[in-house]
Amino acid sequence: MHAPSLPDRTIDAYADVAGQDRLERLRALADTLSGSRILHVNSTATGGGVAELLRSIVPVCADLGIDTDWLVMDATDDFFEVTKAMHNALQGSGPPLTEEMKATYRAVTEENAHGLEDEGEYDLVVIHDPQPLGMLDHLEETMPETAVVWRCHIDLTDPNPEYLSFVSEYTARVDHAIFSRSGYVGETAVPETSIIYPSIDPVAEKNRSLDQETVATECDRLDPLSFEHPIVAQISRFDPWKDQFGTLEAYRHASETVADLQLALVGGMAGDDPEGLELYEQVAEEAAADPDVHVLTDLPDTGVNVIQRESDVVVQKSLREGFGLVVSEALWKRTPVVGSNVGGIPLQIVDGETGYLVDPDDATGAGDRVVDLLRDDARRAQFGENAREHVRERFLLPRQLVELLDVIVAERHSDQR
Ligand code: UDP
Repeated sequence: MHAPSLPDRTIDAYADVAGQDRLERLRALADTLSGSRILHVNSTATGGGVAELLRSIVPVCADLGIDTDWLVMDATDDFFEVTKAMHNALQGSGPPLTEEMKATYRAVTEENAHGLEDEGEYDLVVIHDPQPLGMLDHLEETMPETAVVWRCHIDLTDPNPEYLSFVSEYTARVDHAIFSRSGYVGETAVPETSIIYPSIDPVAEKNRSLDQETVATECDRLDPLSFEHPIVAQISRFDPWKDQFGTLEAYRHASETVADLQLALVGGMAGDDPEGLELYEQVAEEAAADPDVHVLTDLPDTGVNVIQRESDVVVQKSLREGFGLVVSEALWKRTPVVGSNVGGIPLQIVDGETGYLVDPDDATGAGDRVVDLLRDDARRAQFGENAREHVRERFLLPRQLVELLDVIVAERHSDQR
């Protein structure tokens, strides 16, 4: 296990967006947790929404005086191939689950759990997603008093039953499970559950306001992408569920009507995702024939911020989506989003108000909606204002943190009874 480096955060930096009442509530919850040690465990320090969330939540908790650690599993590709199959199957499609896969999973999670022994006892451990769940066996032996919360970030609308039953062997034994929207709990064996919507961090480099000079410098860096012509963008890991090929199809359809339209496919690879590189190569090959399609990898957060801010429309053409932080990231920057009506996307896109929802297999429909927005500056501006307020009310970090700490406090108290 290893601890990622973290940015500095102060709770006071959120006063403008959260309001004093919410900050006071956070401080009160933090006081209740005084003396408690909390650990978050996940499987990657970079790439993807879970790392993005932890990178903000953990330092804010530290500033609130809550003794909070974040540890990332150490594992090789064998393990990540198993857990990516597990992730895919829990979202609806994956290979059969073999005994060998189960053995790899158990061995690596157990080894990581041994690594915890040097860290001392925790009062509560939050396990993010299925990858570290297997650590539970060892945790139950070595920290029997520790409360365990499972924070599931994935879309469990239609899981493969074989994998769900394997994962349920563990989830049935945690104290509490948190899902990103109702409808995900389904047949998962869990004790108590909460629904907590994820959130974006308005203070982070990726989401903060930028002055014109910074925007201009970043736009220059992104050359040959031209901000003088219309841009539609999708920002996603290279992952089959993100459907970059569908986005390409939507763009091609839209560019039949909109002159000089460009597509920016911004993507990265997560440390726990062995499929990413292969998919990136396929997307890059497909995109190479069109000089107006720009496949951009490893952009710094300021670059992602500028693309989300300066694109005319953002698309999120996912086939499944646990939540999709990228949608709120774009909406917060007043950029309307055309997204698939799956998973967490419809929580964020209010159809006809902050963007448009389309069927996940309707690339042509997505292209038409992009055209509708590109042709109507006033509508884009109005949607952008609506989007900013929608995210301000629902999807900013302080709201999520209050709800998470409520669960942690409740579990600590039920533990102490
Ligand atoms: N992201 C990024 N650079 C990229 C692609 C994605 O920084 O090239 C970030 C994105 O801004 C968001 C996160 O990765 O913060 C993806 O989270 P999301 O919930 O949208 O999807 P996930 O990858 O967790 O399925």
